[in-house]
Amino acid sequence: ILIALVCNFSKSQTVTYSNAEIRSLIEKMTIEEKVGQMAQITLDVITKGKNEMESDEPLALDPALVKKAIVDYKIGSVLNTANNRARTRDKWHEVIGQLQQVAKEDTRLKIPILYGIDAIHGTTYTAGATFFPQQIGLAATWNPEIAKTAAEITAYETRASGIPWNFSPVLDLGRDPRFPRIWESFGEDPYLASVFGEQMVMGYEGNNSSTAIDQFHVSSCLKHFLGYSVPTNGKDRTPAIISNIQLEELHIPPFQKAIDAGASSIMINSGIINGVPVHANKELITDLLKERLNFKGLVVTDWKDIENLHERDKVAATMKEAVMMSVNAGVDMSMIPYNFDFCKHLVELVNEGKVEMSRIDDAVERILKLKNKLGLFDVSLFAKAEYPKFASTEFQEKAFQASLESITLLKNENAILPLSKSKKVLVAGPNSNSMRTLNGGWSYSWQGEKVEEFAQGYNTILEAITNQLGADNVIHKEGVSYDHEGKYWEEKDIDINAAVKASQTVDVIILCLGENSYTEKPGDLHDLEISQNQIDLAKALAKTGKPMVLVLNEGRPRLIGEIEPHMSAIIQTYLPGNYGADALATLLYGEANFSGKLPYTYPLYSNSLVNYNYKPSESQNKMDGVYDYESDFAIQYPFGYGLSYTTFEYSDLRTDKNDYDLNDEIKVSIKVTNTGNRVGKEVVQLYTSDLYASITPDTKRLKRFKKVEIKPGESQRVEFILKAEDLAFVNQNLKWTVEQGDFEILISDQSKTINLSKTEIITN
Ligand code: BGC
Repeated sequence: ILIALVCNFSKSQTVTYSNAEIRSLIEKMTIEEKVGQMAQITLDVITKGKNEMESDEPLALDPALVKKAIVDYKIGSVLNTANNRARTRDKWHEVIGQLQQVAKEDTRLKIPILYGIDAIHGTTYTAGATFFPQQIGLAATWNPEIAKTAAEITAYETRASGIPWNFSPVLDLGRDPRFPRIWESFGEDPYLASVFGEQMVMGYEGNNSSTAIDQFHVSSCLKHFLGYSVPTNGKDRTPAIISNIQLEELHIPPFQKAIDAGASSIMINSGIINGVPVHANKELITDLLKERLNFKGLVVTDWKDIENLHERDKVAATMKEAVMMSVNAGVDMSMIPYNFDFCKHLVELVNEGKVEMSRIDDAVERILKLKNKLGLFDVSLFAKAEYPKFASTEFQEKAFQASLESITLLKNENAILPLSKSKKVLVAGPNSNSMRTLNGGWSYSWQGEKVEEFAQGYNTILEAITNQLGADNVIHKEGVSYDHEGKYWEEKDIDINAAVKASQTVDVIILCLGENSYTEKPGDLHDLEISQNQIDLAKALAKTGKPMVLVLNEGRPRLIGEIEPHMSAIIQTYLPGNYGADALATLLYGEANFSGKLPYTYPLYSNSLVNYNYKPSESQNKMDGVYDYESDFAIQYPFGYGLSYTTFEYSDLRTDKNDYDLNDEIKVSIKVTNTGNRVGKEVVQLYTSDLYASITPDTKRLKRFKKVEIKPGESQRVEFILKAEDLAFVNQNLKWTVEQGDFEILISDQSKTINLSKTEIITN
């Protein structure tokens, strides 16, 4: 249905200018006009009252400030800020319409404004829009089509709000569970992130994005180039040490894939890699991104990051030097976001010959081409188009399905789940009755604090369970609550005894623990353990002897080692969005089957943080499904793990040959049988491992996966095709290389060794 819908609407737009016309427009521009295009301000620079978060006054642009920005400084782009909250579609059209009107009517060249927003799990700043699970949940579906559909719907609803540019997807890898933006990523594996990133870009931009993006699609913006998510101390925007081999093997591939899929813009990592702030790194922005990866789109800074080169990172002695470094490194647009001095400095730098006019023209060409590609020069498109599917039942159903396939069953002792509806339950814990925790950050506001106000008409976990059982069979006592007036981690109303007492008359306890919403720096952690109050609550409830189902609702894997033994069942919901609780209740009561799998390794100890593709010396653990909790370091649950209400048996792993030449395709197949008594979806994961190599090989690497639905008693032969390059690694000379020798192909508990006869350098 969705494909038909997208096709129906996709014909109505063409670009306004040819590339030659864009270039002649640039020739007509003054240096001030060019530099203005390269600057992006936030909305609160031009609004009355400034802080929308603390005011009930409807947002209103200040005409004098708008004139100053767009007419005097010739600013070409505007974005949201931490001070903004969600608003209605009408309000969006009013605000953006006013900006475009000034750009069209009061400026010499009538260049439209490019508005950018973080619509990262649905159109998250528009009231009533359809919200999906956050990216980590999409990855947990291991179903890339779901991610594409989520992006298509988000694009549609974002355009329905008059906004053409979306700062999404995040292609940073979620490899460090301490990092506060894990949930914005597709998890720890570069292949999984590449597959999902490609689908999201295609969903956002539509199929013909190389020429035009129609008014039902948006420009995507890949974030945050490069290596943002692995700072050494785990905290946001702190320095990282990343080897060149790791950059090549882990961090570049998802970006490369998304660039090849047609991504129109990219945002730079706010941090420092190997001592150099990325915003000043010409090797990364120009040599790697623009030249080697052949990125032709727009490169935008992250928030205030040119100023940060001077004020925070101290590599530029003045603001003006910071502007020079960053523009010369290859940045096209600066999210200034408040300080108009950027424009003044850049004009001076060009006049002084410190920044070449050709560099400015390159930046402006990239910016104007994007505006043109998005149809923004066509004034008729500014009129409110019809978007009849906005927040339709059809879209909501897709969001529900996405949550359903993401939620991951981690433990189910004695098949306690699915729960029988005749069992009376206590629903407890700080995440039991909160729409805010289901959605996480970037939901109606930056930190998610406005969720309760806007997420009306959706169900919390308590409400969704009550809908299943009827109010008489459900008791609710949080025991521990988040302090929504305080900092996101603060807890209050600690009344563990009340929860224990309430459990006396029930058959089962559903304990909902995890985190409150946060993102970026405010989400930095000192400890990875789940909070002490929550541990105390779990332990006290465990003493009752009642069976307990732990529902985790968290942005990153908080340590649960202390309480895991007390749980009969454990479910990870991640941040499943507005339909997450309905999906959870559907699964809990067996009306659907679990099929989510972890997109990251769930750690057990804070000093044993590891990713699944570790080097052999890192552990004696067997990573093939058998876990030795007593070994050197242990993990709670492995990457790719997740249970089902049915069981799958793998057998008869075959390859078409045993010995391969470099040009051969490697055909692999395996038989998967549903040996239980329920229909289920299984994610068949193919890993390879290089048995000996000139650089210590990773234990294994994910190379293919396929999600298949199998009926009870039935089997499917699942086939994969690999190429020799899938067996490559990056050698000491930073070249992707396959070395001759033996490789193991692993799928679940099955493995097979093949031999490759020649060595080849794949990149040079
Ligand atoms: C974040 C980006 C975001 C930008 C604009 C920054 O603080 O790091 O991910 O897109 O703000 O809101």
